[in-house]
Amino acid sequence: MGPRKRPSEEAEEMRDRRKKNRGNNKYIGAHVGIRGGIWKAVESCTEMGGNSFALFLGSQRSWKRPALDHAAADRFREQCSLWEYDPAHILPHGSYLMNCGSPKEDVFEKSQALLVDELSRCSLLGLNLYNFHPGSSLGSITTEQCVEKIASAINRAHQQTPAVIAVLENMSGQGNTVGGKFSELRSIIDKVRDQTRVGVCLDTCHAFAAGYDVAAEGGVKAMLDEFEQEVGLQYLKALHLNDSKGKLGCNLDRHEDIGKGHIGISAFRDIVNEPRLDNIPLILETPGRPGFEYAEQIELLYSLYE
Ligand SMILES: [Zn+2]
Ligand SMILES: [Zn+2]
Repeated sequence: MGPRKRPSEEAEEMRDRRKKNRGNNKYIGAHVGIRGGIWKAVESCTEMGGNSFALFLGSQRSWKRPALDHAAADRFREQCSLWEYDPAHILPHGSYLMNCGSPKEDVFEKSQALLVDELSRCSLLGLNLYNFHPGSSLGSITTEQCVEKIASAINRAHQQTPAVIAVLENMSGQGNTVGGKFSELRSIIDKVRDQTRVGVCLDTCHAFAAGYDVAAEGGVKAMLDEFEQEVGLQYLKALHLNDSKGKLGCNLDRHEDIGKGHIGISAFRDIVNEPRLDNIPLILETPGRPGFEYAEQIELLYSLYE
């Protein structure tokens, strides 16, 4: 065994592999960490052979966070151009604390403020997509009222921040979350004033748990047809690629490694070969297991391209 190569050399090799993979217009990647500095996300993704990535914009535990350091933001942008990532293939994930549909006024206000803060961080990082979970009614208001609140949070955030697109994630239907049904995503979008700045990220595990049978033969196509009719393909900005520990319609948000859950490998083959999913980020959020981490799952997915 030769001397251990420096990560940057490995990254160089991965860059070449990534370029080859890009020939099929599929931008597959994963959710990467930001420990040690937000710019580290870029090399992490490169080292695993990814062509797109997701990241958090700060701590998941606090409502108020120190402002994003300009030097760190500059370094992030430099890394993105060094490793050739287009901002269209980078999808930050919003804080789990946020509930823009909350019936509790204080939580709603704090969520609203966090949404503005996170969208501003995106523009500082040179990014124009931002993904978040729409919200939950907590069972104390109707879905319609919850939808109303989510849309108003987006409208207010749009007024206060430059051109970042708010990307709503479909939900598994767990608890009182809104956005498990495409019709709910549609009704939020209907109430957004600037519809050029709203979009959707489809999570395969959430869709399956919400009852969209992507595991069936032709299931991926059927789901996309339904999305096309109910929401519109122009709003589809990304996919989260996750298998599901739970069964069809179970409403549980439990991600599994690709091909190891109830969705199964053939749905992911259909995804990798689906032209409607060209040129958008396809991001893994799977738990990973020894010998089958993100790098191996990315490689597997690219090998499914026919
Ligand atoms: Zn999510
Ligand atoms: Zn997701």
